[in-house]
Amino acid sequence: MARKATPDIRPFTRQFYRGTKRYIALGFLQTIIMTAANLLISWLLQQMIDLANGVDTGYTLRTLVLLACVSLGMILICYVLEHLGRPRFISQGMAQYRDYAYQRLSKKSIAAFSGENTSTYISALANDASAIENGYLASTFLIVDQAVLCVGALVMMCMYSPLLTGLSIAIALLPLAASLVSGGLVASAETRLSDANERYTATVRDSLAGFPVIKAFRAEKEMLSLYSRQVQSLAGAVCHRRRMGVIVEMLSTVSGVVLQFGISLIGVYLVLRGNSGLTGGMVLVFIQLLNYVIQPLGVIPQELAKRKAGKALIAKLADALDKSVREEGSVTTPTLTEGITVENLTFCYEEGKPALKDVSLHIPAGRSVAIVGASGCGKSTLLNLLMGSSPEYEGAIRYDGNDVRDIRSEALYDMVGLIAQNVFIFNASIRDNITMFRDFPGEAIDRAVALSGLQALIDQRGEDYLCGENGSGLSGGEKQRIAIARSLLRATPCLLVDEATAALDAATAHQVSSAILDLEGLTRIVVTHSLEEALLRRYDMILAMKAGQVAETGSFDELMARKGYFYSLYTIAQ
Ligand code: ADP
Ligand code: MG
Repeated sequence: MARKATPDIRPFTRQFYRGTKRYIALGFLQTIIMTAANLLISWLLQQMIDLANGVDTGYTLRTLVLLACVSLGMILICYVLEHLGRPRFISQGMAQYRDYAYQRLSKKSIAAFSGENTSTYISALANDASAIENGYLASTFLIVDQAVLCVGALVMMCMYSPLLTGLSIAIALLPLAASLVSGGLVASAETRLSDANERYTATVRDSLAGFPVIKAFRAEKEMLSLYSRQVQSLAGAVCHRRRMGVIVEMLSTVSGVVLQFGISLIGVYLVLRGNSGLTGGMVLVFIQLLNYVIQPLGVIPQELAKRKAGKALIAKLADALDKSVREEGSVTTPTLTEGITVENLTFCYEEGKPALKDVSLHIPAGRSVAIVGASGCGKSTLLNLLMGSSPEYEGAIRYDGNDVRDIRSEALYDMVGLIAQNVFIFNASIRDNITMFRDFPGEAIDRAVALSGLQALIDQRGEDYLCGENGSGLSGGEKQRIAIARSLLRATPCLLVDEATAALDAATAHQVSSAILDLEGLTRIVVTHSLEEALLRRYDMILAMKAGQVAETGSFDELMARKGYFYSLYTIAQ
């Protein structure tokens, strides 16, 4: 939180140019030909007007018509080049950028990600990405087009009249400075708009995800007013952004008109006075060329501001992706042959309010442990820390000799599987939800399905049944069984289970818990709230937790004989 260093956006912008250089080259070739064509057309215009006015220009009408055809051909070539180059550059560059951002995102740890607001990323990969597409990529060509045309026009103007050109530049300097300054306004307005978009996205997502709750609790009005507030704030940001655009445009238009009239008057004066070598056609074309100079003065600062705003959006994403990315551990081949050791573990979500206090325990490899305790006593916190959710604890959590902080997260997830309390089901087939879109041998899948009690569901709906958004087509128990099968299929040597049978009916819950207890050789830590003697007896150890501390440990019989905390929990539950 403390650091505010500007993030490095180069790895992101590099994505735009990977494999797209030939499209960029075509884009710039287009610029050059288009500029040449425009200048040729202006020159032809001057020649034709002067020819019509009886000035001897040294060119026949036939030559001029021929050259007009050439200029038309050049314009057609430009469009062919545009067809081949720019859209490909922009689309491919953007696709690579999105891919890269997603790759970086998927490198975040579960812990880092769960502490963040997903709207930042939704916004970055949706709204912001389109702003970057228009403001950063498309504007690059626009800027170059305008700059080359501007320089070309200036050179040609100098050839017609150095005096008029010099005067034009002098008059144009002031508005140029003004519009450069106003460009900064656009950039900050764009960032404000992106922030408003992010908050708006968060509200939309919340109100859609919580739709049934909102309806059932008749909170439509309240949600609408929350929503309206975000809409208002977004509208304010949109208005501000557009108004900044108006200011920039006004500056460039007003200065353009002043410049044009000023130079026209001087030009006309010079022609009327004679002996300047200027003709009416030249002055007319000079004014047209002046347009090619004035237009960029307005457009370029505006486009540069857009680019700056685009960069700010990229920096915002880079910053979010850099945030709380912790150093990965170096142990890539952890083992679990001795067991899991927790020593004096203390952990706080909030400073001074420990969720776990001085917890110590040892679980020999291949054994099963049940954790029981009242809601909020820290059971899930303990399991999550065992999964490496946070390195910010005191004490030690060791798999054999390795502290969990030193183990690379992929290696840890290969060794330890978690069946969590909250289940997420993808909008995919039952099979894909179990395999997580990977390939597994058929027998392995069948075994996981059987152990988790999913066979009936699959017989009934088929394994290709589409589960719906977060499993909307399934019951809570069915979702939970899919999550159990998913973890069992991974066949990690250690399995953590967090109240995974809570949504199951008693018979299925018993069957699944029993199946987990049957898994020989696996180290299992099972948080359970169903205090069923037949099952509790089968665990090698029971751990009773109370207010973030280990109250008691022992076998079922030992704990019952002690008549302590576990005994009271157990007797109340019966
Ligand atoms: P259990 O799983 O035993 O019901 P938890 O481990 O989920 O309990 O929670 C232990 C304590 O930590 C509770 O007081 C809970 O409110 C708090 N807690 C859990 N998760 C968070 C979190 N992400 N941020 C702050 N406090 C939390
Ligand atoms: Mg819990």
